[in-house]
Amino acid sequence: MISEYESNGEKVFLLRRIIEIRIEKSIYERLSRKYSKEEIIQYSDEKRIIHHTTKRNLYYISAQSGVPLLGHAAFGIIDRGTNLLQIRPITGCNLNCIFCSVDEGRGTKTKANDYIIDPDYLAEWYSKVAGFKGEGVEAHIDGQAEPLLYPYFTELVEKLRSVRETEVISVQTNGTLLSVGAINSLEGKIDRINLSISTLDEERAREIYGVRYPVEKVKNVAETIASSKIDLLIAPVWVPRVNDEDIEKIIEFALDIGAGKKWPPLGIQKYIPYRGGRKLRHVMSFRTFYDRLREWEEEYGVKLVLSPKDFGIEKRKRYPSEIKKGQTYTGKIIMDGRNFGEKIAVVKDRVVTVITNKQVGEHVKFRIIRSKDGTYLGEEI
Ligand code: SF4
Repeated sequence: MISEYESNGEKVFLLRRIIEIRIEKSIYERLSRKYSKEEIIQYSDEKRIIHHTTKRNLYYISAQSGVPLLGHAAFGIIDRGTNLLQIRPITGCNLNCIFCSVDEGRGTKTKANDYIIDPDYLAEWYSKVAGFKGEGVEAHIDGQAEPLLYPYFTELVEKLRSVRETEVISVQTNGTLLSVGAINSLEGKIDRINLSISTLDEERAREIYGVRYPVEKVKNVAETIASSKIDLLIAPVWVPRVNDEDIEKIIEFALDIGAGKKWPPLGIQKYIPYRGGRKLRHVMSFRTFYDRLREWEEEYGVKLVLSPKDFGIEKRKRYPSEIKKGQTYTGKIIMDGRNFGEKIAVVKDRVVTVITNKQVGEHVKFRIIRSKDGTYLGEEI
C-alpha cells in the first residue's frame, strides 16, 4: 500500500494512493543512514503531508491529535437535528464541477488545507453521537469531497455497521472511482449509493465537471449498482442553460436500469449559489423547478418532489453542545483552517473555525459569529 518515488528534489512516499509524505531528498538521505523508512515516515519532523489529488496540505486526524470531530462542516460528524448523521472522513475532490457548492477541486480559489480522519477515531465519535440519537440512525458518508478518495472506506463502513443504532449506511459519490469490484465488495455492507450524474453527454460532461469525465464508466457503475443488492439513487444537479436537455434523459436512464429499489430512484437537485460555492449566472426559481418536477412526475410516473420522510428521516434531538452564538471563548489553535485566513481552535470539546492571523500553537480569543447545525465560525477579538 506504499509506493515511493522522487519529485522536485523530494523523496515521496505515497500511502494508499492518497497520502503523500514528502521529505527533502538530502534530509531523507541523512536520516536513512540511521533510521528505517517506517521510522522516518512516522517520526520525522521535516516531512510534509500532502493530499495526492488536491496537492494541498493534509492533516491526519487521529485519537492522538485530540481534535474533536464535531464543530466543522468539512470533516467529522454533522448533526442537523435528525436521525441522519453526515459522516465526513476526508476533504478534497477529483472533479471540479462548475456548480460545486463548496468550491472543491483543483480550480478552487478558497480551499487551503485538507483533512483525513483515522477510521477508528471517526467510528468512536460516531458511536457516541449515534448512541445519543437512539435506534434507527442513518450514517450518510459525504463531504466537501469525493468520499471514495478515503482510503479506509470499506473499513469505515464496517465500523459504522457494528454500531448498534445504525440502521442505514449510504454514501454520496460522483462515481468516478467506483468499479465493478468495489461495488461487489460493498454489497451487503452499504445500503444506498447516491450517484451524482448531471449529464450523459461526453462534451457537456467536460464543461460541467471541469475535468475529463468518464461518462461510459459512470453509466456502467450505475447499472452495476442497480443490479446489485445496493439501492441506487441518481442525483443530478440541474443547472439552467447548461444541462436542461439532460435531465429527462437522466430520468429515463434511471428508470431503464432499475434505480431505486427501496428508496426513490432520483433526487434531482436545483443549482443554488451557496455562500462559499461557485456562482453561475443563471439561477432557476424554486417555483419553475418544482413545477417542472411535477410535470415529469406525471409523465414518467415517478416521485421526483422528495421530502426527508421518503428516506425515513425524522427530527431527533441534537447532540448537546455548550457553544453559543455571540459568546466569547479562548481556545488553542491546533490546525490551519480549511479556507485561507482561517484557523481551527478547540474549545468545550468542539472545533471552531476562527478568522485570525495567529499561528498554530497560539491561543486566540474569539466571538462566535455563526452557529449552524453544530458547526461554528468565530472571529478574533
Ligand atoms: S463532485 Fe461534488 S465535491 Fe467534487 S467538485 Fe463536484 S460538486 Fe464539488
